[in-house]
Amino acid sequence: MTPREPADLVCSAKACRGTARHAVVWRNPSLHVPGRRKVWLACEDHREHLRDFVQLRGFLLEVKSVDELTEEDG
Ligand SMILES: [Zn+2]
Repeated sequence: MTPREPADLVCSAKACRGTARHAVVWRNPSLHVPGRRKVWLACEDHREHLRDFVQLRGFLLEVKSVDELTEEDG
């Protein structure tokens, strides 16, 4: 890992230690209040896998680069 990599941005996929490049933002309406945003971090290999997982359940809000994450994204 190089000093330029944000050290704590690790892919959310099970058993993956890849550096996260993307953020899958989602919300489960039956669990989370409106406005709540859950974020899964994803490496290049798992971006589509994690996106599809929440999209199939109708929870997907958006997918964006980790560079675009804001304080509101929890
Ligand atoms: Zn991964």
